[in-house]
Amino acid sequence: MSESTVTQENASFEQIGEVLRNHQSFVLLSHVRPDGDAIGSQLALGYALMAAGKSVRLINEDGLPENLAFMAGSEKIETPPADPLDVEVAIALDTATKPRLGDRSLHAASNAKIWLNIDHHVSNPKYGDLNLIDSTSPATGQILYQLIVALGLPMPAESRDAIYVAVSTDTGSFQYPSTTAVTYDLAADLIRRGLDVGTINSQTYDNHPYRRVELMRALLNTLQRSDNGLVASWEMRDQLRVDLALTPDDSEGLIDIIRAIRGVQVAVFFEELPDGKIRVSMRSKDRRFNVCEIATEFGGGGHALAAGIRMKGPLEDAKPLVLGAIRRRIEAAGL
Ligand code: 5GP
Ligand code: MN
Repeated sequence: MSESTVTQENASFEQIGEVLRNHQSFVLLSHVRPDGDAIGSQLALGYALMAAGKSVRLINEDGLPENLAFMAGSEKIETPPADPLDVEVAIALDTATKPRLGDRSLHAASNAKIWLNIDHHVSNPKYGDLNLIDSTSPATGQILYQLIVALGLPMPAESRDAIYVAVSTDTGSFQYPSTTAVTYDLAADLIRRGLDVGTINSQTYDNHPYRRVELMRALLNTLQRSDNGLVASWEMRDQLRVDLALTPDDSEGLIDIIRAIRGVQVAVFFEELPDGKIRVSMRSKDRRFNVCEIATEFGGGGHALAAGIRMKGPLEDAKPLVLGAIRRRIEAAGL
């Protein structure tokens, strides 16, 4: 199916269920630089399918990040093999655009006859043969929970725990406005199914390597705030990655520190990448200020309150472009 085929309807759970039932071999994929929702979604659906007797491969372009290695069953996450896998169905999870799966992952999945696309990004152009995009869902993990329950698929401990980590990390520990009663009901149900909530929260949030705190110290030295106090930003040079031996997951969630400043409505994190490109991470605290629209302006995407861009460097050029666009939109929104 061509990538330009847009504005398709969502598939029903039943239609997705039919594809899952009628095939035997699956590859499950998620986006580059995977976060808790990406890996959690792969493990959640992957272990449910395996428990149902299916043959499943879990592939990520960047492999399993160290900060998620505590997740039960995570040793199944592999980097892409060199040759295309012999699978019938490819399932993209939590991935706003097909290229964000990564070139080697796309090659590994290129023999699949059917593509499913399950995600919660509002900017997702529905690039699958069957799509299940719910932008009201705070995490792809929550969509998968509903799918697994609705279809009566097994929910082994790996899936149960993975759903919790996916939803917890994408809601900022059940704090963001995307969190609803459905989300808390889900958490309660997972606890009833045997989830050890204290242990899994501790493994997720109280287990950072020391270098992450050193990164925080360096970032704080670059902190800037706009004159009106509405925008806070910080930046990271690639040299810092080398000096502190950082891995991409080390910066995960740090932006929440500057997002939490009183008065700040928009937080921005600029990161120089090894290839010279600039990764921009944005958060908004105000529904009237949609950071996904800013990201889309520069070829990125995401959600209204959390979005990102990968753009041309150098940092000196990217920074004023993005901050200028934010300033203009803040003025237009009358914040
Ligand atoms: P984060 O700032 O945590 O990396 O990403 C926030 C949100 O924006 C995530 O939902 C993520 O999928 C999306 N996002 C981040 N970077 C990009 C990007 O380069 N392109 C697109 N389309 N979405 C991105
Ligand atoms: Mn997500």
